Amino acid sequence: MSRTLFEKIIAREIPAEIVYEDSQLLAFKDIKPQAPVHILIVPKKPIPRIAEAGQWDYQVLGQLLLRAAEVAHEAGLGESGYRLVINNGPDGGESVPHLHCHILGGRKLAWPPG
Ligand code: 5GP
Repeated sequence: MSRTLFEKIIAREIPAEIVYEDSQLLAFKDIKPQAPVHILIVPKKPIPRIAEAGQWDYQVLGQLLLRAAEVAHEAGLGESGYRLVINNGPDGGESVPHLHCHILGGRKLAWPPG
């Protein structure tokens, strides 16, 4: 199977503005931001989408959420708040088949989403 766009960012083959990295995760700024702060945090393991994560992925999924909150705080959103979004499949708006969590903030976000 061909490598995903985010695997190429993880491998530094495609440039991105990286804001956080550890052994399991990478966070970088979205190329087409939908809010003043729009960061993607991804597992280095190429899980295609949350629906295809398994029981064995529970540790990295937990880390993804915990680190997302830390990255949001580091980005200055601790007081104002933020939204974490995981799109899954066509109706969910998924466009890159490599699990990622959007960190959005810096403006008032509408609910329900469009
Ligand atoms: P999805 O629609 O799959 O939930 O989110 C994919 C996100 O990846 C989109 O917000 C899109 O703007 C972002 N994206 C697509 N290509 C690139 C890229 O080459 N670099 C970065 N940093 N973000 C990208």
